[in-house]
Amino acid sequence: MSFEPTVLIHSDTWKRADIEEEVVWCRTHSWRRSHWQRRPALVHRISGVTSLYVGQAFDPAKIDLVPDGWSHDHCVICFWTLSDSGSDDETIGYTDERGAWVCSECYHQFVNPNSNATGNA
Ligand SMILES: [Zn+2]
Repeated sequence: MSFEPTVLIHSDTWKRADIEEEVVWCRTHSWRRSHWQRRPALVHRISGVTSLYVGQAFDPAKIDLVPDGWSHDHCVICFWTLSDSGSDDETIGYTDERGAWVCSECYHQFVNPNSNATGNA
């Protein structure tokens, strides 16, 4: 018999092993609590492929710079959607310097489990 440890994220059951790699990666980054905000995106006119604009060079004949074109991000651990159109658990998350996002639930549960200790230090 084997027992696989599971965790609950946004009321869904996940195998702990399936997120372990992402959790380890997240612990090597520093995160800042932030309100999710729309950001500029580069949108390819024909394919519609969208990428976050961070100042990189692009060909204006093929690609449009859309000021609020980056409409959401996904939690790197559980793929929860962070956007500007939801409740607090969708609009508030943690971001690193390079534009990756972790939802609050994953952050407090896995990345920095001591971060939500309330006054009992
Ligand atoms: Zn998450």
